[in-house]
Parts: sequence; C-alpha cells; structure tokens
Amino acid sequence: MMTETGITEVGLAGLSRMLAKRQVSSVELTQEFLRRITQWNPLINAFITVDQERSLADARLADTLLASGKGSLLTGIPLAHKDIFCADGWLTTCGSKMLSNFVAPYDAHVVGLCKAAGMVLLGKTNMDEFAMGSSNETSYYGAVKNPWDIAAVPGGSSGGSAAAVAARLTPVATGTDTGGSIRQPAAMTGITGLKPTYGVVSRYGMIAFASSLDQAGPMARSAHDCALLMNVMAGHDARDSTSLQRPAEDYTRTLDQPLAGFRIGLPREFFAEGLGSEVAAAIESALAVLRGLGAKTVDISLPNSALSIPAYYVLAPAEASANLSRFDGVRYGYRAPDYVDLDDMYEKTRAQGFGDEVRRRIMIGTYVLSHGYYDAYYVKAQQVRRLIAQDFARAFDECDVILGPTTPETAFDFGSKSDDPVAMYLSDIYTIAVNLAGLPGMSVPSGFDGRGRPIGLQLIGNYFSEARLLGVAHQYQQVTDWHARVPTLVREGVSA
Ligand code: GLN
Repeated sequence: MMTETGITEVGLAGLSRMLAKRQVSSVELTQEFLRRITQWNPLINAFITVDQERSLADARLADTLLASGKGSLLTGIPLAHKDIFCADGWLTTCGSKMLSNFVAPYDAHVVGLCKAAGMVLLGKTNMDEFAMGSSNETSYYGAVKNPWDIAAVPGGSSGGSAAAVAARLTPVATGTDTGGSIRQPAAMTGITGLKPTYGVVSRYGMIAFASSLDQAGPMARSAHDCALLMNVMAGHDARDSTSLQRPAEDYTRTLDQPLAGFRIGLPREFFAEGLGSEVAAAIESALAVLRGLGAKTVDISLPNSALSIPAYYVLAPAEASANLSRFDGVRYGYRAPDYVDLDDMYEKTRAQGFGDEVRRRIMIGTYVLSHGYYDAYYVKAQQVRRLIAQDFARAFDECDVILGPTTPETAFDFGSKSDDPVAMYLSDIYTIAVNLAGLPGMSVPSGFDGRGRPIGLQLIGNYFSEARLLGVAHQYQQVTDWHARVPTLVREGVSA
C-alpha cells in the first residue's frame, strides 16, 4: 500500500492538460489502460466487454479533435460504463443471462454525453444482475474481485466500475445507485463515488431497476475527478420524464471553498449498534481532520432510519417486478430453446434467464402489489418513505451536510452473505434512506481496516448540493491521502 506517480495516477484535469499539450496522445493513453485491462481483468473480472478496436477508433477520433483544437476538457480521456447503460453497438447485458445476447441499438443519454465530450469508451463493467445486490456475486458473469484483497467482494452493484477504478484499469467510470450501488462499492474499494439528486442525470437508456430510486453518477479516484465527470453527465433530457430542467452547473465551482464554520450533522442512528469498531474509529479520525479545517459538528437525529431497509425492500421489488416484465423472450434478449406454447415460453425464458436474487425480487414485488396486500405493504412503504424524507428536511435546518459511515463494515469475504439475503441487505443500511428521499450522497475514502480493506465515509447533502458535497470531499482530500493509495496487488506496471 503506497502512493505512485505514473500516468495512471494523474487526475482528469492533469490528463486533460497533457493531452492538450500533446505530451501524450489519446491513443497512447487508451493503449496503456487496455494493456492493464488485458493484464488484470482475468483476475479481477471488472469488465464484461472490452473491444480494443472500438476503443482505439474512439481514441484516434479524439486525437484528431485535439489536433484541430476542437476538443473539450475530457476529450481523449478513457472511461468505462457500467453494463446497465445501453451503448450503441456494444453488448449490454446488465449482468444477466437474460441480456447476454443483447447488442444495444442506441446510446443511453449518459453514454451519448460522454461520447459527445470526446471521451474514449474502454468497455462495459461487471455488475450484480439487474443491479440487485451488494457484492457482485449475483452477476451472471461471475463475481468481481476486490483489488485490495481478492478474497473480498468489491461491493455492489457497481462493483465492476469500482474495482476497475481502484485497479487503475480506467481513470474514471459511471455507476448507478438505487439503494447504495455507487457509494457502497466505492467505500469497499477505496474510491470516490457520487450519487446525485434524483433527476439530475437522465435515466434514458439506463436499464431500469426501481425507476423512482435509480440514479447514475461518477466513480473516480478523487472528488475533483467526480466533479469533472458530473459536468459531462448531468443535464436535462426530454426523453426521461423525471429529468429536471435546471440551469447547467459547474460542479467544480466550490471545490476550493474553505470549511470554516461549516456545520456537519452527525445522525446518532448512524453511530449506534451495528457499526463496526474499525469503521467507527476511521470516521472519528476523519471528523478530527474536518474540525481541523474549521468545520463544526452538531448532533442530529434521523428517527425513521431503521425503517429504510424494510420500506426499500417493498418499493424497489415492486418497481422491479413491473420494470422486468418486459423481459419475456419475445422482442429481444434470451429465449428458452424448448417450449410447447407461448405461456410455456414465457415461463421457461424467465426461469432460465433470471438468477435467484432477481426472481426473489420479482416475487416479492408481485406479492406486495397484489390485491389485498397493496395497502398493507406498498402504500405503507410509500408513507414511510415520506417520513424518511421529512427526517432529512428537518436535519438540514440544523446542518449543511450529514456525515456518517458509508457501510457498517468493510468488504466482506466471498460467500459470507450470499446465502442470507437479509444480511446482504443490511450492508446498505446507511445508504438506502438517501435514495428514498432522492438526495445526493457520496462516499469518500477515509482509511483501512486491520486487514488492509478500505473504509469509506458518507456525505449526504440537501437537494442539488452536489457541488458542496464535492467541495467538502475535495478539502478533505487535500489534507489526506487515503484516496491516492494504490492496491499492492496492482502496483506492478503503474509507473509505466
Ligand atoms: N444493494 C441494494 C439492492 O440490492 C442496492 C442496489 C443498487 O443500488 N442498485 O437493491
């Protein structure tokens, strides 16, 4: 565990300067990351699809743009997209056998924006099937390994993107977060990830899990890099009816704002039973650093926190059961090879095409939406969702940002929770309420446990306070180096 100085350690702003001055070409940069993917992906399994020719074609195009002075800030910089985003001409599987033969015929809005910015697509990253999971073990393509310790999960569901950034297989990646899937794997792999306010990033072309909760965001090594990718990803899109019409923002604008007098709220429910002692100690140290930068802490309460997991596991499956009804073997995706009639085709296709966790969610969702149970479960969960949002609204009268752990414990071992869905669900205990309220949240590296597995702290802000969250994280990253640590396993070849 140490910091390095090679090209893979240069942030996006630095890479942009090097590309502009032609100190490196996009083709050279892309080749370096493709070389690292070839070297490390067989072990880490972060990518489902890599297409070197396509990536190099993007890079040549970027070099032409740069040479003609027409590039924008991120032109020529490689990135990876979670395999939940449709990318024109790319296999887009969502981690499922159901879509194992699906080549997207169009670009998701986010993919289109990155392409228009001249970024180079390195490949599509592995994920829990249909983004349902917290460990990447539900992927049809096999689990992703945590670059810090290959016995550990990388978190989920954006575990491929997280591991790819941590292992320096890409400078930056996209992820999606329905209940924690950007923040939880970011915490477990020692990277920085932001889940924006619901509606800030378009969901068009992002395969739907729970539409009222799903939100895409950046995953990178630093808050500064997340801000730069947010500048590309965010913005209104008429093709998503929940996409918000707001003036364009520069997410880097408050990175340098000092923290003097800044009020950090500490929810007592996040520091209670269930929080691992090593995680708690790391969060305490981070608070000392932030106080040293002039921030003040205030004790707050989010009294309905304990209800977030039960409410989520009614609402998310309900929405998923509706969203996933389109996978029926008729129009696209997997179709069972043998069947006797249409009903049999549907049944066999869905039984064979979906994994256990996805089938479990569809059954729960169908149940809670069914006549007789709708009021008892679905309507009740919606009411609880409102109470949770009100808790946050009250808390933000007393503080500017809420701080706590991202996860109760560090990355766990493969297999340790895969037979116990409820234990798995609990790893999102601190992240889920944020999605239910539609708020922005991020995870920032803040230490390691005794086994060298990363610890993340979570920052939660009021609606549209992404720039402020990124600013707090950036100030913290100016005086700490947790985010700059490189997994020992992948240090080889870093300073090319
Ligand atoms: N782990 C949670 C779940 O399984 C959250 C997933 C997500 O955010 N996509 O639903």
